[in-house]
Amino acid sequence: MRGGSAVTEGRVPVFGETAVGETAAGGTVRRVVYPGSFDPVTNGHLDIIVRAARLHDEVFVVVGANLAKEGLFSVDERLAMLREVTRGQPNVRVDKFRGLLVEFCKAHHISAIVKGLRAVSDFEYEMEMAQMNYRLEEIETLFMTANPLYSFLRSSLVKEIARYGGDVSSLVPEPVFKQLQERLAAP
Ligand code: ADP
Repeated sequence: MRGGSAVTEGRVPVFGETAVGETAAGGTVRRVVYPGSFDPVTNGHLDIIVRAARLHDEVFVVVGANLAKEGLFSVDERLAMLREVTRGQPNVRVDKFRGLLVEFCKAHHISAIVKGLRAVSDFEYEMEMAQMNYRLEEIETLFMTANPLYSFLRSSLVKEIARYGGDVSSLVPEPVFKQLQERLAAP
């Protein structure tokens, strides 16, 4: 049974009490979205996905398709790799979005965006986005600090190292490593 809102009951509202999805049985689903370009997904991304999945009922990992043409992998290839490496996570869903992320959130009853922070340099931009997304549609942003093992890791760096023959096998999941080798193999 669902009562009045936390605010009308005089309690401080906590995350997940508004804008949550509803299950067929009338329960609620705490759903968050983890957006990125994932070109390709790295162990740093995967670390955030697994940790976010432990904290929420459902995590939508979404590939932003707006700037897709500039990537090494197509959006469909990125989605396929994400699906493969999250197969063991039953509450993770993989999708893509176009346009504004907050619109995707509204359409899928998602109350918050998860972002990974590697360093202070990530923070300024992310703070601005978070405030704008709250202003637009009251979508919250939750920051998770990077695992120190991966705080130096970004997809562009992985691609650059792999392109020049460096070993990136410990930086990306196995299926991604194989795809990188194939894509960057000399013609
Ligand atoms: P990049 O191309 O920089 O790897 P994405 O646009 O795909 O990144 O990143 C999606 C999200 O994942 C962002 O919130 C970004 O800060 C976060 N992220 C990227 N790499 C890491 C990492 N190594 N550890 C934690 N979070 C990360």
